[in-house]
Amino acid sequence: MLDDRIFLKAYGKINLALDVLRKREDGYHEVRMIMQTVSLYDGIEIIRNSTGQIEIESNVFYVPNNENNIAYKAAKLLIEEFDIKEGVHIYIKKFIPVSGGMAGGSTDAASVLFGMNKLFNLGLNLRELMERGVKLGADVPYCLMRGTALSEGIGEKLTRLPDMVKCPILIAKPPISVSTRFVYEHLKLDEVKQHPDIDGMIEALKNRDLGGIASRLGNVLETVTIEQYPRIQEIKEVMLENHAINAIMSGSGPTVFGLFETSEEAYIAKEKLKELNYAKQLFVTDVFLPGAGRKTTQ
Ligand code: ATP
Repeated sequence: MLDDRIFLKAYGKINLALDVLRKREDGYHEVRMIMQTVSLYDGIEIIRNSTGQIEIESNVFYVPNNENNIAYKAAKLLIEEFDIKEGVHIYIKKFIPVSGGMAGGSTDAASVLFGMNKLFNLGLNLRELMERGVKLGADVPYCLMRGTALSEGIGEKLTRLPDMVKCPILIAKPPISVSTRFVYEHLKLDEVKQHPDIDGMIEALKNRDLGGIASRLGNVLETVTIEQYPRIQEIKEVMLENHAINAIMSGSGPTVFGLFETSEEAYIAKEKLKELNYAKQLFVTDVFLPGAGRKTTQ
């Protein structure tokens, strides 16, 4: 007898480095990014039922509770491919800031693929789940893989990297809405003066050199988002004044993260940002490492 429900943690990501190499003729941007999973997660519960429908429920009103939710699309993809006649009720408890540059939607979708595979005994391995995930979004395969990884192409070419050094991470999402599409469309690559030293960061990861990693944090998309929203720069400065080893924006923003030596320092910086009212969504979290990875049927 198969279980009728499954609970999963859908972890968010930060970009330790984000570089854009060029705009391709098809309009997509070729990127080179170092991705890192963090311990901040959305709770996902999937319940099998006999309705034949996909139902989405969430604790926040601002994510869609219909076919526009990427978790719905993930369930639909497997239901159609495997001709599943039963229905599912998917409850999403959001903690990852929405539209924040932390792949919140992508990780929910990844967890739904993973959970449906288990719940309906579909027999897909991780690689097969990742092949399906990329149809939903470029970050979904990474969210299935998790950990420290180099992401290339349009985000779908993934190479596992040595694990990030564990450290406290402060996440701050100001109340600003940023469209990823807008940011990429307004990126003036020829004017970008500083590209992150990704190869140097990979070396620092190999050497487990937190200072070397932190000094190489970089995101070319800051040139667009910070110009539009100076608050992002102010948040970075508050983190740096409060002993962050370094701080940058994640993805297309507006979320900023800082790496710290101690969680005490991270909590002090968090309080400072709260006092200043620069961000309401504030979390002290840490590096998440998946160890042997997700267990899937082989
Ligand atoms: P990325 O880092 O991949 O650019 P993001 O973290 O900036 O993503 P998301 O939180 O994934 O952005 O949300 C982007 C949009 O997707 C929002 O407009 C949101 O309404 C919609 N959305 C659809 N499904 C979800 C979901 N399960 N969780 C969050 N947002 C979702």
